[in-house]
Amino acid sequence: MNATRVYLSPPHLGGDELSLVQEAFATNWVAPIGPHVDAFEREMAARLGVAGAVALSSGTAALHLALVINGVGPGDQVWCASLTFCGSANPIAYVGATPVFIDSERRSWNLDPALVAQGLDDAARAGRLPKAIISVDLYGQSADYEPLVAACERHGVALIEDAAEALGATYRGKPAGAFGRCAILSFNGNKIITTSGGGMLLSNDQRLCDEARFLATQARDPAPWYQHSRIGYNFRLSNVCAAIGRGQLRVLDERVNARRRLNARYRDLLSGLPGLTFAPDLDHLPGTRCTRWLTVIQLDPKNARATPEELRLALEAENIESRPVWKPMHLQPVFAGCAFIGGGVAEELFMRGLCLPSGSSLSESDQDRVVTILRHHLDGGA
Ligand SMILES: *Cc1c(COP(=O)(O)O)cnc(C)c1O
Repeated sequence: MNATRVYLSPPHLGGDELSLVQEAFATNWVAPIGPHVDAFEREMAARLGVAGAVALSSGTAALHLALVINGVGPGDQVWCASLTFCGSANPIAYVGATPVFIDSERRSWNLDPALVAQGLDDAARAGRLPKAIISVDLYGQSADYEPLVAACERHGVALIEDAAEALGATYRGKPAGAFGRCAILSFNGNKIITTSGGGMLLSNDQRLCDEARFLATQARDPAPWYQHSRIGYNFRLSNVCAAIGRGQLRVLDERVNARRRLNARYRDLLSGLPGLTFAPDLDHLPGTRCTRWLTVIQLDPKNARATPEELRLALEAENIESRPVWKPMHLQPVFAGCAFIGGGVAEELFMRGLCLPSGSSLSESDQDRVVTILRHHLDGGA
């Protein structure tokens, strides 16, 4: 077995993180408040062209707060893309609301805008509109927002963008993280940039950001003693972690370009294998560019010489990490019995998909190891 493990998407630090962290130590701002937190929020808001940003302890916490500040609670429905990580859906349960999962479209793998539009029309007629819709920008590809935003606006439903996997992407000239009433980002260790762990809530509505910041710091009323009129949370990002995030933001464009290069090289080196295709993108739309956070392949069982699981095990035997596509939320035991709108698209993408090592620091020689194994198992002549 080869000694060095190849990870799916490991952290990739730039040149400035350590000196920024040292500055946090030197100034004794080792707390969930401080100048790096403020600067990280300002710099991210400027980068994404949104009015406000609130740095938080995780992407999941950011989504939790996004639901709270949009007034979602028990008895409300929240519609959510089914093909996603559980961090998109668990916050619906945290606030006591009822999830309804929506199928993917094949063009972007994200929320199917036709299903959402039709579903909202039907729900409006039945007098049972959802309180919010969570759209996900999967694997670095933004959802198709033009029709999604139009459908949500027609019915006055809050759109919340889970851009955890898509920082650095654009859709029709606008950055991922700038859509909907609120958006969230994640800086977990496997995301395109990391703070070790962390997240952010973004909105053009400054009052929503103020409320999120208030709730994230235990909801302290303006009084000299600790007084509380609402249930708050301890969700703020550490100033030390924000220092890492500021350094990472400086290299975001390089990280996006590196992941896109890797993807192009995979396409080149794996071309012509029977039954193998790559996740689609919307890059043909003007001003639209995905990040290729992860390179994902699909294997058509009719033509492919191996299943995704056989490939995953073959890679693992060579100390290479790969991962199935997210198992849809409507198929998760924990969400059994929840409503689902759609057909079998998300399920098929899950059954046929495999995420390949995609870290921006992946060397060509390690990528070649992946390619050799895949070609060995998939080549029609073999
Ligand atoms: C990573 C991720 C999250 C959650 O982010 P954390 O910072 O890990 O809590 C939410 N949604 C999606 C789609 C993700 O990939």
